Amino acid sequence: MNCEIVTIGSELLRGQITDTNATYLAQNLNAIGFNVSLHTSVGDDFDQMKQVISEAVTRSDLIIATGGLGPTEDDLTREVIADLAGAPLVFKQELMDQIESIFTIRGYRMPGSNRKQAFIPEGAIPISNDIGTAPGFMVTRKSKLLVALPGVPKELAYLFHKEVVPYLKKHFHLDRQLISSKVLRITGLGESKVDTLIRDLMNPHTNPRVGILASPGDIRVVITASGKDREEASSRIKQVEEQITARLGNAVYGSDEDTLEGVVTHLLKARGASLGIVETFTGGELTARLQKTPSSPLVQSIIANEISRFHSLLETERVPPASDGETARVLANMIRGSCGSSIGLAVVGVLKEMEKDYQVDAHVAVTGERVNGSYSWKMGADLPTLQVRGAIIALNTLRLALI
Ligand code: ATP
Repeated sequence: MNCEIVTIGSELLRGQITDTNATYLAQNLNAIGFNVSLHTSVGDDFDQMKQVISEAVTRSDLIIATGGLGPTEDDLTREVIADLAGAPLVFKQELMDQIESIFTIRGYRMPGSNRKQAFIPEGAIPISNDIGTAPGFMVTRKSKLLVALPGVPKELAYLFHKEVVPYLKKHFHLDRQLISSKVLRITGLGESKVDTLIRDLMNPHTNPRVGILASPGDIRVVITASGKDREEASSRIKQVEEQITARLGNAVYGSDEDTLEGVVTHLLKARGASLGIVETFTGGELTARLQKTPSSPLVQSIIANEISRFHSLLETERVPPASDGETARVLANMIRGSCGSSIGLAVVGVLKEMEKDYQVDAHVAVTGERVNGSYSWKMGADLPTLQVRGAIIALNTLRLALI
């Protein structure tokens, strides 16, 4: 079932507020089985609102509009939808009573202008609002369902769950389908590489549906399936999951709520291993991630601003004080020896300040009994991004060495 979201309000187009309603509705509509195919924001302009909503009705089974249900001149959602439905606006006493009771509870006299909010298109199903003054309504037009909800995010969420979801489930027979989803967590491959490897599985009209969500160093592949029961939905997910893991290999580090540091902690504990860390340009990001992970076997961590902090040690080891792979290896061995951990990990790099951002020539080394790993990379970005990426790459190098 296709669904469109129309968020109404000139302040959205002026960039004065962030459109959290669209995000909220998209998440919650997908979760109950709708394919949200389009989201449009439109200002408080009668003709533009009418054009956007009438086009949405031609394309989609369900259209949910938010905002524009207030008492002022520029709140036009009621008028536009009545016009599109070819129905006059009619007064609903029960909505008026509800609006008045909200003013009474809040200790105010209701201004006359709020009477406007008790009008909805003739034949529409009212959605009375017991936590705010803007009621919503639902209208059926050419077998399509049009839902108008208030713009205030708290009221929208409340009415969507209390009134709209139960109605949608009945109207679109959603109870006959169970929606299930699984997230595969990936690191060590770029978003475009992942996309190339699984693109043929990403047709939005298939069941299951596959989508990619990317953030720096961490990619999530979301598989969503519907079925007549949990078993059917899960077995559909499993088939696609197997294909994806076969293609992405050990870049898949976990699923659902797994974290990279959680997975690494689990692998270390499974071997009875303990860990010592040296980190430089990552500024403690790596240590913080492991310290926040319950029962992490981190013994000691040294966070140094610069590689020069280790000059005398490197001299003893006859390693030139450069930031390179060999330095990382020596420091990983050094921390292992000094704190008595079974595994040492060092992530080092010299930050170069550029005109806008930073650049780093970075190296990670993992050393220990029957555990060895290393990785080098160059990267330019702002400092927080470099640090997060550095910590993720260090953790992933350790993970790959452990498996
Ligand atoms: P009310 O009568 O309570 O004003 P309404 O349906 O007319 O209800 P709007 O006037 O359009 O709602 O919006 C009220 C407030 O809700 C806005 O000032 C804004 O703070 C918030 N809001 C509106 N639309 C959105 C949106 N899409 N995302 C996040 N917040 C929104």
